[in-house]
Amino acid sequence: MTSNTSDSDSHQTQLDAIIIGAGFAGIYATYSLREKLGLKVKTFEAGGDVGGTWYWNRYPGARCDIESYHYSYSFSEELQQEWQWSERFAAQPEILAYLNHVADRFDLRNSMVMNTRIVGAKFDEAACHWVVDTDDGNTQTARYLVSGAGVLSASTLPDVEGINDFSGAVYLTAKWPQQEIDFSGKRVAVIGTGASGIQVITEVAKQAKHLTVFQRTPNYAAPIRNRPNTEQDEREFKQHYPQIRRDARNSFLGVNYPGMLPSALAVSDEERHQQYERAYAAGGFEMFAGSFGDLITNQEANDTAAEFMREKIRQRVDDPAVADMLTPKNYAYVTKRPPLETDYYETYNRSNVTLVDIRATPIEEITPNGIRTSAGDTELDVIIYATGFDAMTGPLLRINPRGESINLADHWAEGPRTNLGLTVHGLPNFFAITGPQSPSVLYNMPLAIEDHIDWLTDCISYMQEHGYQRIESTAEAEDNWVRHSAEIADATLFTGTDSWYIGANIPGKPRVFLVYVGGAANYRQICAEVAQKGYEGFLLS
Ligand code: NAP
Repeated sequence: MTSNTSDSDSHQTQLDAIIIGAGFAGIYATYSLREKLGLKVKTFEAGGDVGGTWYWNRYPGARCDIESYHYSYSFSEELQQEWQWSERFAAQPEILAYLNHVADRFDLRNSMVMNTRIVGAKFDEAACHWVVDTDDGNTQTARYLVSGAGVLSASTLPDVEGINDFSGAVYLTAKWPQQEIDFSGKRVAVIGTGASGIQVITEVAKQAKHLTVFQRTPNYAAPIRNRPNTEQDEREFKQHYPQIRRDARNSFLGVNYPGMLPSALAVSDEERHQQYERAYAAGGFEMFAGSFGDLITNQEANDTAAEFMREKIRQRVDDPAVADMLTPKNYAYVTKRPPLETDYYETYNRSNVTLVDIRATPIEEITPNGIRTSAGDTELDVIIYATGFDAMTGPLLRINPRGESINLADHWAEGPRTNLGLTVHGLPNFFAITGPQSPSVLYNMPLAIEDHIDWLTDCISYMQEHGYQRIESTAEAEDNWVRHSAEIADATLFTGTDSWYIGANIPGKPRVFLVYVGGAANYRQICAEVAQKGYEGFLLS
């Protein structure tokens, strides 16, 4: 299929596929397209090695909050059997080691180029290929462009005066340095209390002379309950993996929690309380994905869970005023992504930790010596930003792929527009793995990634069999998907809350819910039907 040629002949295509990124998505896409279809593939990675999220987010405390045996590839039974996860929830170094193992085991590195960022991409209709620019000044062409750029990879910093003036050390959780950092004896600030902030706060508090946490919005965090995996855990998973994966793929979150009851309102107060206590004690995401099925659709049901979580915070934090600051009051449980924690609330009982509510006393300026809020100055040696990401759309918009008649930034000016969260009208032969309007972040990422890559691999295989070179979503199918995705989101409580799920964390970002919340099982069925009907809603030529 590939015709190898020099860069100068713009109508010859050098590669079959260019893949953006070598994280979970890029690694499996490289494997799948190369090993299953025999395509000539090149994968460009901005980081110095494979790993994506797990390469960059190496801050103290970084840990996955999906169970390790679930948060892993299912495509190779041999891989499943040979890899051993040491903890119930794997820490960043172990996940990074796993991804390195996968890259080595399947000999994928020779298709990958590290330290090279894709900075632009344009579809050339005459040649029917993508022309892709990298930050080393080179250009490559490929029939297909596959994005594994990630959904939480475009990190953001607050727009605050003086941000470049601080004379001490500055770290971002999302771009943490390779070397270990010693915070002992240091006055440290963390800005941000999302999942990353909560993890880093808990660890840095153990070392720092003093830690000041600048919180804008409190979260409903629940205990993760991590522990070492036992031999029995390992046996259980390895003996039953096919069934476990099937069940996982048919559950909302991509992990099957069997204790879920249909409605928080259909049981007595006592039964409801017992169910919440059980889920809270079980750890992981059981509190929302294993307690009651109507928490994200019914405000009254949600209120019961929210109040249970608030009571736990009050019980765990000694100072009632601090507990009050840490307690979410005006948004529904789960509608901001609920973080998991180990001793997070107890961290505020330490004498070396101070919490500052920056809604009450906003940050006015970063000064050379620290942070100035409306209440006064905090002198600091270190500032850690855990301020989040331009989620879902940011990674693709930073590349801004262009077709003959559209560019993505204009096409998405009022929010993302995709067909199946995978393709975009006007960008032929382009696939966005776990793109906006797919289940992605509300599902178990490795499974979401595999589902998409299997679909696009089958699609390219179909094109090869039928002699097609070009596939593009119709405008009508895209319109339908955007509408369908929004209708489902509007039937939940998610759209009533300011969160990164809806773009509210980025000033000026359109308020559009970014995730398909119809459930991964429904979603996969829809994708399968599209394929069975000869890629209904797509133009093939
Ligand atoms: P995040 O959830 O967006 O949290 C960012 C935090 O920074 C929030 O507390 C936010 O406040 C605050 N913030 C943002 N801009 C600010 C500003 N200008 N001034 C002051 N505060 C500001 O980001 P994250 O913690 O990096 O997590 C992002 C997602 O990554 C998570 O939701 C999760 O999906 C994933 N993640 C997963 C894990 C895991 O598996 N364990 C760990 C880390 C991250 P507001 O809430 O008011 O916006």
